[in-house]
Amino acid sequence: MFGAPAGTYQVSLKIESFDAQISGHAHTDPPPPEELWGRLSVDSGGQGARQATCSIQVGPRGSGSCDVTYQASEVSGRVKIRAETTDNGLDESLSTQVDVRVPSLFRASGSPQYLRFVRSKDSGHVDAVAFALAPHALLGLQRLANAYRIVTVEERSDEGYTLGLILSVNDMSLPWGGKFDITGEWTGDHNSHRKGTSIDINKRGFDRLTDRPVPNREGHLTTEEIERSRLEVSEACDNARGRVVPEEDFHCEFDAE
Ligand SMILES: [Zn+2]
Ligand SMILES: [Zn+2]
Repeated sequence: MFGAPAGTYQVSLKIESFDAQISGHAHTDPPPPEELWGRLSVDSGGQGARQATCSIQVGPRGSGSCDVTYQASEVSGRVKIRAETTDNGLDESLSTQVDVRVPSLFRASGSPQYLRFVRSKDSGHVDAVAFALAPHALLGLQRLANAYRIVTVEERSDEGYTLGLILSVNDMSLPWGGKFDITGEWTGDHNSHRKGTSIDINKRGFDRLTDRPVPNREGHLTTEEIERSRLEVSEACDNARGRVVPEEDFHCEFDAE
C-alpha cells in the first residue's frame, strides 16, 4: 500500500473466482466446489479459508504491507484474489491473479505407425488436453512404445503379428497438471496423472498390418488375453525404465528425474 494516510488499515482479502476451464476442464456442472479454490491465511498458524483479514500499519512515508499466504488445492486453474480496505477515508481495492499449474508440460504426439492415442469419449476433458507430459516422461513414452513393439514381436510373431504391436495409450495429464477428475465431478480416483508422469495404456495394442486392435475380432477380451496383455505392458514399462502402477487398466509411471 503506497501513498496512504498514516494509520492502521484492516484489509479484507477474498478468493474471488477460480477458473478451471483454462487448465483443461471443459465441464462446468457442477462448478468446482469452493474448497478447491484454495485457501488464504494471514498468520502461519491460521486455518485458512476463502477470506482473510490482515492488518497493515501505514507509517509517515505512506506505505505498509502484510504477508498473506495462498495455498492451492490439487486442482489446477486461475485464481483471482481481491484485497479491499475502506479505513481512514480510503476506498481502495485491487486484485491479483495466481496460476495454479505444473510448469513445462507438453502435449505428447507420435506417428500413427508408432503410437496410438485412444480414449473413450470424454467431453469434460477433450483429447486435446488429455495427453500432457513432462519432458522426461515424453522420452519415457518413446522408450515405452519401442519396448512394447519389441516385446510383442517376441511374444506374438508365431500368431502372425511379426512386426510387433503398436502401443495404444490413454489418459496422461492435463496441460496444467493437477487433479484429472475423469468423472467430471472434481472428485474420485485417478490420483496420479497430476504431474505429467503418468501414462495409461489400453489393453489392446494395434496390429500394424490391419490397423485394428488385436485380437482382430469384436467383443471383450478373455481373462487370459487381459493377463497376457498386462504382462507385455509390464515388461515394456520395466524395459523403458518406468514403474508399473497397479490399476484396473495398465499404467506406466515415469517418476520425476
Ligand atoms: Zn475435470
Ligand atoms: Zn493411470
